Amino acid sequence: MIDAHIHLDQYKNAEIERLMKNMRGSGVEGLVTVSTNLESSIANLALAERYPGIVHPAFGYHPENPLPTEEEAARLLSWMERRAKRMIAVGEIGLPYYLRRQWAKEGRCLDLNAYVQLLERFLSFAERHDKPVVLHAVYEDADLVCDILERYPIRKAHFHWFKGSRHTVEKMAERGYYISFTPDLLYEPEIIELARSYPADQVMAETDGPWPFEGPFAGQLTQPPMVLEIAEAWGAIQGIAPEEARRRLRNNTRRFYGI
Ligand SMILES: [Zn+2]
Repeated sequence: MIDAHIHLDQYKNAEIERLMKNMRGSGVEGLVTVSTNLESSIANLALAERYPGIVHPAFGYHPENPLPTEEEAARLLSWMERRAKRMIAVGEIGLPYYLRRQWAKEGRCLDLNAYVQLLERFLSFAERHDKPVVLHAVYEDADLVCDILERYPIRKAHFHWFKGSRHTVEKMAERGYYISFTPDLLYEPEIIELARSYPADQVMAETDGPWPFEGPFAGQLTQPPMVLEIAEAWGAIQGIAPEEARRRLRNNTRRFYGI
């Protein structure tokens, strides 16, 4: 299988060694590693060079970060421009749902427009280079991102760890967008419900590692072989045998990312 969304650069060096070793023979053959800023993109490119054919890097700016300065944004985009052939996708990009909520609690107002403008620069890049996009856009942000995406001829949009209203889910499914399930598919009722209804040929499995999970994964270091358990859980929900579920999620991921 393929872990469709991981932050490999955010693990410690010793953990990366261990993680890559544990992957051998585990049934996980590849990783889509997403970036949070320029430094992270550079680190992920280095990892892709170290593990060719296994680590597939995406470059971008994580929207839950403070807004980059114009100079930072321009530097990242021009760095990406020179490495367009090396990247499998543009990501992680999107809108700052959790940051906005945190700011609101503190009585501060976040300039969403500026985030939208940044997102559009990445979408233009993806359009120009014909790359898929990896999106962080949950709940009402997903609606806004769907509307923005309509203005671009981008067909390949992956909403990772997606959560949203029934209406949004239907719209995304209809437009052919993909979503991915994290290990919380094993214990989160909202996600289990989503897995029941989302089209089986538009779903993938991801760990979003090193993000830690609960339920059966509490206290464990998040690792790519967890996607095997995600596939099994998804199969059980869909009434598909584990082997077949893994095969389908693997095929979906390969088709979407062209791996
Ligand atoms: Zn992520």
